[in-house]
Amino acid sequence: MKVLIVGGGGREHALAWKCAQESRVTQVFVAPGNAGTALEAKVRNVDIAADDVAALLAFASRERIDLTIIGPEAPLVAGIVDRFTAAGLSCFGPTRAAARLEGSKAYTKEFLRRHRIPTASHATFTGENFDAAYVCAQKLPLVVKADGLAAGKGVIICETHDEALAACERMLGGAFGAAGETIVVEEFLAGEEVSFIVIASDQDVLPLATSQDHKRRDDGDQGPNTGGMGAYSPAPIVTPELHARILREVIAPTLRGLRADGSPYTGFLYAGLMIAPDGTPNVLEFNCRFGDPETQPIMMRLDSELTALCEAALAGKLSGAEPRWDERAAVGVVMASGGYPDAFRKGEPIAGLETAARLPGKVFHAATKRDGDAIVTNGGRVLCAVGLGENVAAARAQAYELVAVIHWNLVQYRRDIGHRAVARDEIAVGAGGTGGTGGAGGAGGAGVDD
Ligand code: AMP
Repeated sequence: MKVLIVGGGGREHALAWKCAQESRVTQVFVAPGNAGTALEAKVRNVDIAADDVAALLAFASRERIDLTIIGPEAPLVAGIVDRFTAAGLSCFGPTRAAARLEGSKAYTKEFLRRHRIPTASHATFTGENFDAAYVCAQKLPLVVKADGLAAGKGVIICETHDEALAACERMLGGAFGAAGETIVVEEFLAGEEVSFIVIASDQDVLPLATSQDHKRRDDGDQGPNTGGMGAYSPAPIVTPELHARILREVIAPTLRGLRADGSPYTGFLYAGLMIAPDGTPNVLEFNCRFGDPETQPIMMRLDSELTALCEAALAGKLSGAEPRWDERAAVGVVMASGGYPDAFRKGEPIAGLETAARLPGKVFHAATKRDGDAIVTNGGRVLCAVGLGENVAAARAQAYELVAVIHWNLVQYRRDIGHRAVARDEIAVGAGGTGGTGGAGGAGGAGVDD
């Protein structure tokens, strides 16, 4: 079996690494991949950009690829699945119409309202109908969002009305290009964030292991928002009750709504949720693909064949599929370039990767490339070091042992990934619970098997 993974980040390295371990998979291509995917057995990089749909289609046809899995959102929103399917090729991901759930926040908010799925109240504006008086009448803090894809940077949380007005003006003034021509002004929601990721096949759903990521750059969940500085799985906040509630109140009505609107959904579906103090799972966003960095710890825990799950979804046979999960917890720590998410340097040689490769756990590459004999940084989020352990604390210790042997000029990373889960485990132990995977894994694991 030949597999093509489209994309070149940490998510795609984890997907390629996972597929390459399957005995029936003979070859995995990654387009364009990175220096880490190039090092994996059975994996080959192909020099085609992830959004060059025509070249990807030509390559997949020529190589007779059996299954293509799309990593990033851009080719999905551009309609890569429609093009591959029309050419008779198996391609895992939502169609262009279904991928609008990620491509436009204004569309998604309207979709959520119409289908009565819990989310923050909002208003949508363009330059033409912008209403400063509305903005100034809203409670603070207030959230201003660019409608289109903005690489995780199109969301500004504003503490004052002046800040909110300035954010609106900046976006409508073109600071985010076409993505900011329409904006969403949204109520701020307090609570704890959860990533809930499923494989969907029209109305059938297979929830993946629970996970949680850290969006803020600095320790203590402070500093600017980023694409994600680390993630762990399972997420103990997702109790079996909450798991069932998310499926019932968010995932099921979303898939029903998409079908009713004429764009049924197949692919990874990622709901970014804010769990309110009363337990309501409010939708912050949908992503039409797997999360990054959530993919990395989740793939470390998946014992079943990923290709088989994707094929079952494409064939409409997902309801019989039962993935097996490693009982252990996984924690992924993102190592980023100094300055990220603002300006940063590229091309810094990375030391210690060979030492790390001999240690337990796994280092997934994101923005890396080969430069002669060296592997150098090539973007903001450079690596994700993932550890496994009997609980989140043990997995985290293993991940930081990997981090400790890797270095480059101006590297930055958080030192507290998984802190909420570790605190929950400690409370469980203090209260006479089992702690460890008994507490953390039990909650996530039980949910996963639902
Ligand atoms: P989004 O791309 O919409 O998920 O927003 C990115 C991040 O901004 C989220 O992960 C949250 O941390 C934060 N955020 C977005 N919308 C809200 C909101 N309404 N209330 C509080 N935080 C939010």
